[in-house]
Amino acid sequence: MRVILLGAPGAGKGTHCKKIVERYGLTHLSSGDILRQNRAENTELGRKAQSYMDSGGLVPDELIVKMMAEAIGKTGKKGFVLDGFPRTVEQALELDNILANEKIDIVLNLEVNDEIIVRRITGRRSCPACGAVYHIETMKPKVDEVCDKCGGKLMQRPDDTENVVKNRIEHYYAQTAPVVDYYRTKKLVFDIDANKGPNDVISLIFKKLDNLKRKQKKQVVNNISL
Ligand code: ADP
Ligand code: AMP
Repeated sequence: MRVILLGAPGAGKGTHCKKIVERYGLTHLSSGDILRQNRAENTELGRKAQSYMDSGGLVPDELIVKMMAEAIGKTGKKGFVLDGFPRTVEQALELDNILANEKIDIVLNLEVNDEIIVRRITGRRSCPACGAVYHIETMKPKVDEVCDKCGGKLMQRPDDTENVVKNRIEHYYAQTAPVVDYYRTKKLVFDIDANKGPNDVISLIFKKLDNLKRKQKKQVVNNISL
């Protein structure tokens, strides 16, 4: 199964991707996580991406497309879930080229109001050691500032401040919202009200993906019996 999660920064893409990956055995490909990993390792890509990320802008398409083509090339048969990519129509067109004959099965579009986005992002705390994500109000760790999964010290991402968030939201509407329209014309988009709590959102996602899997299995059986 090949899935794309779209939504503004803070919509809950990373949070729900982790659960999707556990349930369906897919590979999670987060462009933001791969960029942060490159920065932590001080690679050339990490150094080039730094100023764009810190100001809340988008890293140039050519760098992102090369990075994601490599990552997609390493995924196994079971498929993947893309989180944070594609973020421009140019990236979406390049993704079609990367996939060639393989197709995206579904695009889950997480819809969230702007005030909620700002609250979610400024309250987000992340574990730099294992990548787990929490929220100071809605998804608290058991012990303040400590990761439940690995005991690491939770941090606020440098781009999760109110000023930078505003810039990121502007880029979302200008450059990423048209990506939703691109996939809408291909009839791949399933809209989800992601203002709801995380349990409600993941239930909607599982219901949709379970149905999709069932349909795909049926199709395989039909093709065999033809
Ligand atoms: P994205 O990957 O889209 O930027 P995240 O998954 O990191 O967003 O979520 C942003 C913040 O909001 C995190 O702190 C997360 O714990 C919290 N969060 C995610 N989904 C929900 C939800 N449905 N309700 C409340 N808080 C949520
Ligand atoms: P994220 O973790 O998805 O919130 O991404 C963090 C930052 O990484 C973004 O604000 C961008 O600067 C950069 N980034 C991540 N994915 C992309 C992408 N597909 N295209 C351009 N920039 C990206």
